[in-house]
Amino acid sequence: MTAGSDVPLIALRGVRRAFTRGSVTTEVLCGVDLIINRGEFVAIVGASGSGKSTLMNIIGLLDRPTSGSYRFDGREAGAFGRNEQARLRREVFGFIFQRYLLLPGVDACANAELPAVYAGIPAGTRRQRSTALLDRLGLADRLDHTPDQLSGGQQQRVSIARALMNGGAVILADEPTGALDSASGAAVMTLLGELADEGHTVILVTHDAQAARAARRVVEIRDGLVVSDSGETIPAVLERSGEQRPKRHAPGLFALTEALRSAFAALAGNPFRTALTLLGIVIGTAAVVAMLAIGEGTRRDVMARAAATGTDWIVVMPDNDNPTLPGGRLTLADAEALATLPNVKAVTPGRWTTVTLTAGSTSLRSEAFGTSTAYPETFQWGTRWGGFFTPADERAGAPVIVLGTAVAARLFPDEEDPSGRYVLANNIPFLVTGVLVPKGPDERGTDRDDRVVVPLLTAASRLIGSTDLGGIQLTVADTARLEETKQLVRETLRERHRMEDFFINDMAARIAAVAETQSAMAGLLAMIAGISLLVGGIGVMNIMLMNVTERTREIGIRIAVGASAADILRQFLLEALVLAGGGGIVGVALGLAIGVGASFVLGLSVVFQLTAIVLALVAAMSTGVLFGYMPARRAARLNPVEALARE
Ligand code: ADP
Ligand code: MG
Repeated sequence: MTAGSDVPLIALRGVRRAFTRGSVTTEVLCGVDLIINRGEFVAIVGASGSGKSTLMNIIGLLDRPTSGSYRFDGREAGAFGRNEQARLRREVFGFIFQRYLLLPGVDACANAELPAVYAGIPAGTRRQRSTALLDRLGLADRLDHTPDQLSGGQQQRVSIARALMNGGAVILADEPTGALDSASGAAVMTLLGELADEGHTVILVTHDAQAARAARRVVEIRDGLVVSDSGETIPAVLERSGEQRPKRHAPGLFALTEALRSAFAALAGNPFRTALTLLGIVIGTAAVVAMLAIGEGTRRDVMARAAATGTDWIVVMPDNDNPTLPGGRLTLADAEALATLPNVKAVTPGRWTTVTLTAGSTSLRSEAFGTSTAYPETFQWGTRWGGFFTPADERAGAPVIVLGTAVAARLFPDEEDPSGRYVLANNIPFLVTGVLVPKGPDERGTDRDDRVVVPLLTAASRLIGSTDLGGIQLTVADTARLEETKQLVRETLRERHRMEDFFINDMAARIAAVAETQSAMAGLLAMIAGISLLVGGIGVMNIMLMNVTERTREIGIRIAVGASAADILRQFLLEALVLAGGGGIVGVALGLAIGVGASFVLGLSVVFQLTAIVLALVAAMSTGVLFGYMPARRAARLNPVEALARE
């Protein structure tokens, strides 16, 4: 704005404004011509309903005429973009309303500073200026009072400070004394007079004749038309000669802290409702965190098992579950055939059976493994006391037995080393050749010391009565050629059996099986998380829509003091983000708790990873932004005049 320019500041010509409600159209302004120059102090008077506020809203760029021309500082207002309108509201106009329209729950300083926030003025500078203004307006000792702690006159002075915050070259006061007692009203009128003396252009709407007298010029409106004007100004020029670009300011960087504060206020205002609607986000995030942690734990378990048992083995087992097969059989002859294959270092046949063991008066049931002398090397499991049975025992099917430590301890509680003693296995006397090294429980929690080992032939002839094998374990010399060897094993057995009545398993296959389970679990996780986040997103949208409805007046105030549509959109998006982020944080905590619970109660392996937690939070926050967008856009598109009229 150029002071002292030869064009009038405000020039309305033939301004009309009609409101259409359904099929009814009301003409409120019916062709207003009005020119106001810089530094004028004008009172607009007229009966209630004559269109004064409508005129003010048009002048202050809160509303647009239906037809006619409004030139501000020589430029056609209808051509201003939304951002330019917001900038002018923020930096040039200062609104003072009859009902003050301060933000509730925010102190005097913060209320006065609002236009400066949207102008991107640093907090320190803002505070200095608001303090100085409020001090000048006699509110030095009320800086940290919220509107409900201030009288009407004090609130109106805060709103005047707000109007002056960014300069307030044009003060638009719509019945500023209407709600005040006469003393406070007189004080406000004195203030407006002083501002006019200082060079502010003051436009005052009032139906109080005495108040109007304070103004230097009185314009009367009746039925949407100017019917009298005490100081008609006829300007020489109505248009600017050279188009002057408005000074561009950096877009008002909306303070993050303010958005955070109002988001927390929205959260805290109705904590139960908030908690309920955020449940979906909480569950979704928790599902992502917990399932990823369990999945990672399982993966590491498998890797650890692979590292512990090595990867240099192949297991062949009969397929007894396939109803189209006669029931698979694996024999010692099969094992011997496999032993001749290249790359096969050792072959360990085996067969499990349950036996009753008795020593003295103690009897117990145990799992007996019939196997070969290759057992200690194949399974890396030697004896602690005594020794393993010999190849001669094996060939002869001798009644010899190696005890697990737990079995030895129960059958021979008084002896450390029971080698050389006899036990009855299914009532047959067996010589104890040794006791296995203790191994403790396996990864599934079963006790591995609770078993006994006997020669395969002994198991077949004396305990089972069949030479069928439970499985054949092959140790390969070169792991790199494992697949090749596996293929050879398959071909050999298929040739011998004339069908595929067996399974071949190895660590790679086991890892693949776990990976498959995991991907199924990941699918389930994605579904749970997706559905929960969808429900949560709808919850966020619901909260934010209620928020926008409940805070319509606040939004109107923000737009009136110069917030752009982008500022409002950003604020509500940030609030949705904070809401969803809050739900996400609770969800992460819940997910961690579920993970810890799964680890302690169910004994699952759980590994928390920062990336998984970040991923879950990002998912929650993206949901917030996605579903908060519609309510935020609704807020940003509110009509400020209607929003301000909302109770
Ligand atoms: P004043 O401020 O002089 O009392 P207003 O400008 O507020 O008058 O309103 C003038 C007329 O326009 C009133 O009859 C009012 O009902 C009507 N009016 C104002 N705003 C709207 C609107 N948004 N929709 C419909 N009618 C409106
Ligand atoms: Mg009015």
